[in-house]
Amino acid sequence: MPVPTTAADILRTTFGYDGFRGDQADIIAHLVGGGDALVLMPTGGGKSLCYQVPAMLRPGVGVVISPLIALMHDQVTALDALGVRAGFLNSSISPDERRATERAALAGELDLLYLAPERLGLEWAQEFLDRLDISLFAIDEAHCVSQWGHDFRPDYLRLSVLHDRWPQVPRIALTATATPATRREIVERLALGEAKVFVSSFDRPNIRYRIEAKQQPLKQLLDLIRTEHDGDAGIVYCLSRNSVEKTAEALCAAGVTALPYHAGLPPAVRSANQNRFLREDGVVMVATIAFGMGIDKPDVRFVAHLDLPKSIEGYYQETGRAGRDGLPATAWMAYGLADVVQQRQLIESSEGDAAHKRLLSRHLDAMLGLCETLRCRRQVILDHFGEASGPCGNCDTCLTPPESWDGTVPAQKLLSTIVRLERERNQRYGAGHLIDILLGRRTERVDQWRHHELSTFGIGAELSEVQWRGVVRQLLAGGLLAVSDRHGTLGLTEASWTVLRGEHQLWLRTQAAVHPSRSRRGATAGAGRTTAAAATGLGEDDRTLFERLRAWRAETARAASVPAYVVFPDSTLVGIAQSRPSSLGELSAISGVGAKKLEQYGEDVLALVASAGGGEPADLLA
Ligand code: ADP
Ligand code: ZN
Repeated sequence: MPVPTTAADILRTTFGYDGFRGDQADIIAHLVGGGDALVLMPTGGGKSLCYQVPAMLRPGVGVVISPLIALMHDQVTALDALGVRAGFLNSSISPDERRATERAALAGELDLLYLAPERLGLEWAQEFLDRLDISLFAIDEAHCVSQWGHDFRPDYLRLSVLHDRWPQVPRIALTATATPATRREIVERLALGEAKVFVSSFDRPNIRYRIEAKQQPLKQLLDLIRTEHDGDAGIVYCLSRNSVEKTAEALCAAGVTALPYHAGLPPAVRSANQNRFLREDGVVMVATIAFGMGIDKPDVRFVAHLDLPKSIEGYYQETGRAGRDGLPATAWMAYGLADVVQQRQLIESSEGDAAHKRLLSRHLDAMLGLCETLRCRRQVILDHFGEASGPCGNCDTCLTPPESWDGTVPAQKLLSTIVRLERERNQRYGAGHLIDILLGRRTERVDQWRHHELSTFGIGAELSEVQWRGVVRQLLAGGLLAVSDRHGTLGLTEASWTVLRGEHQLWLRTQAAVHPSRSRRGATAGAGRTTAAAATGLGEDDRTLFERLRAWRAETARAASVPAYVVFPDSTLVGIAQSRPSSLGELSAISGVGAKKLEQYGEDVLALVASAGGGEPADLLA
């Protein structure tokens, strides 16, 4: 293999890309020069190139520590398809395969070797590494070393051995987790004190953030899929295994190709479902948050949350799995009163001391602040990560600014009902019953407890039930109301009194009384649609060609048993559909078409494009 001379060469010939993104070029130069690096970049930012390119430029093999055994095979397959010499060692391979990979590494025939972290604890594995000429160590998902994070892997603690045993080998640690505490822990535990830190912007401009009031969540989700993401790959996150199963069933019944994924499924089913999601086009994965880390499928077009995430960090990591290819994608969430009550209850009944509960509450408060904000969603998110930005123009609050209304008086009515019940009768109730009282409904419970005799009975008839639920939700979100026990009954907080005393004017988001009208959204469908083909602004002819390229890709991927995106990502198919190359030279100029893929698929693609005919002349004839 001819030795490429520069990073830019490799980028162009091997990966088929025109230029580096963000800090990539600086990071690569730093590593090639022998320095250590800590790279903080959002999901989809392009972390892999940061170690793959230097591993190809420096003599020896780059050893990549990755926590996800199940995905190593796909990572290596993707590199293979680019013509990069790569292999992996983990517990899933046979002794013969292991020996073959070891031999190739020792003979200097590999540029990259993926390794499971637990191997590093084994003396023979360390001795094997001693015998290799190592160009660099890359520690992927480096936040797994953090004991306080949710992805902690004990094996990651062993990684300090890299520095102790091979101090001369440059190391690069990469993560999409941005919090300063995690960063400090990575530096400390991996002995990266000398490393240069590269912090990218955490913005993901191609993702449109949308949070709507939860009314009929399944129907809302189906609407989203049918009107905007028909036939697209997506992830739907649910809190419990049970709701994962139910949601997946309901989607299937509605004709969507949906699969469940949660820790309670047999491992064989889990990995079969994960494989189908990665390999086939247009599969929707319904999952608990157990699913997703390390899934580098670039064409996930939407991530939907049917339950409230516990923190902005978690939410951002999960939504970040959408649109890694840079094409428009949607992060959508349905959120309602019951979510707030449930999350507050979970914290209340969680194990751990008061300090721990306070920490969980702080995380939840920030998340709720995002849900209820009247500001740009992206601004709130980036602000949370310490990054300043302006209104983005690509989130629901920017696109359809929410109206606000003065909710002070209704809030006072609700809070004083709670005060009366507590003071006069020593009783506490959940939201449903309180709203019944305010609306003046003679329910069985109202009659039984003689609550129609309360002075606040029926004083809230000016609002609908949906609006009242919106008031309760926003008071809970803002800490002006508390969930007082496991049953979800509501009580006052200190801050409630500032509202009752009229010291605090309360501006609330306007609560749509009915399901947000689809016709209104329909009017802006052109701009709102993010379906793989439509997202890209392809005209009708180009879209037809895009769909044919997709079908060809699906067939090709199946025949080679590789994930579809390994053949070409959507973004490359879009480029082909738009520019309709008529020669190999023109094809190779399209982003994502490197030398090996040109050789392998070039003729097929050109034939497909030719058979589709040139867009405009065909129109004239028709
Ligand atoms: P991360 O690991 O940071 O989540 P990846 O390394 O998987 O992100 O990259 C995300 C996507 O962006 C991949 O499809 C990758 O091929 C593509 N990509 C990375 N760098 C570039 C670049 N300089 N130009 C074009 N595409 C890129
Ligand atoms: Zn915005």
